[in-house]
Amino acid sequence: MYSIAIDGPSGAGKSTVADILAEELGFVHVDTGAMYRTIGLYLLRNQIDPSDETAVSECLKKLTLDVEYIDKKQHVYLNGEDVTPFIRTNEVSTYASKSSALKPVRDFLLDAQRNVAKKYNVIMDGRDIGTVILPNADVKFFMSASTESRAARRHKELLEKGESITYEEVLSSMLERDKNDSTRKIAPAIPAEDSVPLDNSGAIEETIEYARKVIKGKITL
Ligand code: C5P
Repeated sequence: MYSIAIDGPSGAGKSTVADILAEELGFVHVDTGAMYRTIGLYLLRNQIDPSDETAVSECLKKLTLDVEYIDKKQHVYLNGEDVTPFIRTNEVSTYASKSSALKPVRDFLLDAQRNVAKKYNVIMDGRDIGTVILPNADVKFFMSASTESRAARRHKELLEKGESITYEEVLSSMLERDKNDSTRKIAPAIPAEDSVPLDNSGAIEETIEYARKVIKGKITL
């Protein structure tokens, strides 16, 4: 099986790029953020403090999380319910970011992520795919984009989903999540040594074109 890792901060455009490349290559796009968000949603719904390791660990015992691919689109199931439409709010982002710093949460999701990569050719996007989850991935990218363009992208997405939020609010919660994600002790969001930097501050077509070239040089299909 082939695997391509795309890591980087939120709003860099990892999902969009991964979707397009997965479609071209016939790979499955695995959005690992959605798995962390599913846990975040459970904690939010049950009013559990996402930084309380003991309480979160207890919750994980009661929780089943399944991932399925229907027409190549990823669906996440929380205790049997398809929660895919409910995990993209700003509140869930905060819960996901806070709880993702906890070891029990990362351990809970580790096998789920590796198992998908055993079953399918994958483009997996996240924060620690190239460093922890798939250290032997065939291609590793670390994607970045200017803070302003990332916040603008996320703001647009949230407005389209009907959330009422200002650009400034999105920017400040994004900066806080960036800090949590890149400074946490376990699996911080940092580039793998053998990753290829992918800057997505400009036109997405150029990012895709460059990524395509890198992949062609490393994978023969
Ligand atoms: O990528 P997305 O913004 O959907 O991820 C939500 C949160 O889940 C991130 O802020 C990050 O804290 C966490 N996450 C992670 N490791 C991953 C994917 C996401 O810690 N591989």
